[in-house]
Amino acid sequence: MYNKTIAELAKGLRSGEFSSVELTKAFLARIKQHNSLNTYITVTEELALQEAQAADERLAKGDAELLTGIPVAQKDIFCTEGVKTTCGSKMLDNFIAPYNATVAEKFNNAGAVMLGKLNMDEFAMGSSNETSYYGAVKNPWDTNAVPGGSSGGTAAAVAARLAVCATGTDTGGSIRQPAAFCGITGLKPTYGRVSRYGMIAYASSLDQGGPMARNAEDAAIMLQTMAGFDDKDSTSVDLPVPDYMAGLGNSLQGLKIGLPKEFFGDGLNSDVAATIEAAVNEYRKLGATVTEVSMPTLKLAIPAYYVIAPAECSANLSRFDGVRFGYRCENPADLTDLYTRSRGEAFGKEVKRRILMGTYALSAGYYDAYYIKAQKIRRLISDDFKKALSEVDVIMGPVAPSTAFGIGEKIGNPIEMYLSDIYTIAINLAGLPAMSVPAGFVKGMPVGLQIIGNYFAEDRLLNIAHQYQQVTDWHVHTPKGFE
Ligand code: GLN
Repeated sequence: MYNKTIAELAKGLRSGEFSSVELTKAFLARIKQHNSLNTYITVTEELALQEAQAADERLAKGDAELLTGIPVAQKDIFCTEGVKTTCGSKMLDNFIAPYNATVAEKFNNAGAVMLGKLNMDEFAMGSSNETSYYGAVKNPWDTNAVPGGSSGGTAAAVAARLAVCATGTDTGGSIRQPAAFCGITGLKPTYGRVSRYGMIAYASSLDQGGPMARNAEDAAIMLQTMAGFDDKDSTSVDLPVPDYMAGLGNSLQGLKIGLPKEFFGDGLNSDVAATIEAAVNEYRKLGATVTEVSMPTLKLAIPAYYVIAPAECSANLSRFDGVRFGYRCENPADLTDLYTRSRGEAFGKEVKRRILMGTYALSAGYYDAYYIKAQKIRRLISDDFKKALSEVDVIMGPVAPSTAFGIGEKIGNPIEMYLSDIYTIAINLAGLPAMSVPAGFVKGMPVGLQIIGNYFAEDRLLNIAHQYQQVTDWHVHTPKGFE
């Protein structure tokens, strides 16, 4: 039952092979059994069983959707009404969200069963899930390795089959990199495709929620539910949502793939490079042609991101002041003491580092030198992608320079940690959609192929991933002990 996809489970629910209550109980038991991975911050057992009961009634009535009765989980960055929503921070350890994020609401409306809230880097700042107040998450492929971040709890839970599928968010790679490290399929949609309402903000001009699942078909089913215009999010784009499932059968004959030479230079592990090349070869067999493209500004992506993202985060996180939300220090002497101690005691080290960097970059005198310059670089990066995507249909490359690294290996060296996002960050700066698709293993650890498409080409990306998954089986491998 655990290894089934959404479509297979939907069939089982309809044929009466099992009920949603039975399915939900089985997943809840499995979450307890594998508690040591630390994937869940909150398990909503009682609520899940109520939702499963309601789903069974809806299934019996015959008005169910594909996700009705399917046990899913939410990254703990999405507000869920009446349920603790922490964003991985001590700051929100006592925060019960008073409303649902649009994404959570959409899963509810589809009749999905929420098993709980998934662990993540604090305020989504990190690449390893080690900045979480709730502790590191373990990678089910090697419990000494990180699952990636910031959606590490999501990736590990889906890989270990502790949820059928789950949500993630991606500001600089946080869907794609953990998906790659855990051997699952993840999609970061075009900026504006999925509502950010009720998704706790990190860097608002970059943040985007998306699906993390076993395969492209499940990701398509999830995105169908998640995508769409939302008047509660001013950056949500009012474009029709295509039928993602209907697009999965298209041939790839004549597909033009571009490989940016900057993606394959120094710093990329040679075994990962060979794995990506093998995947690209598979696409040649499916009828694609491959050419080299150049993205000269790619090397500026990390420096630009680490000005823009901290700048936005320093503004977004100013709302956590000990007054309105979350943690408040004890016995404040005065207002300044209340602010400084509440923030000082409740934010972790990485969050503080980013607030300091961002405040500095936005301060009078430095604003032009750092923030404005970074915004100009952002434009150049977008232009590079625009040019490349006028020559080819999609861009392919690695998701990360290596497979999952060890817990504790990079946490003391922020620069090295930041470099692990070298292939993902530029895509957020440009606002483009991109996927991570399981493409093989290096020394037993999963490798992700990145596929980057044009704005709102999620349907195309999903089909390109799906066609590959028809001729390869990397996405069906399961870590030992979690079969
Ligand atoms: N690792 C990147 C960061 O720490 C990206 C995080 C994300 O996408 N949320 O900012």
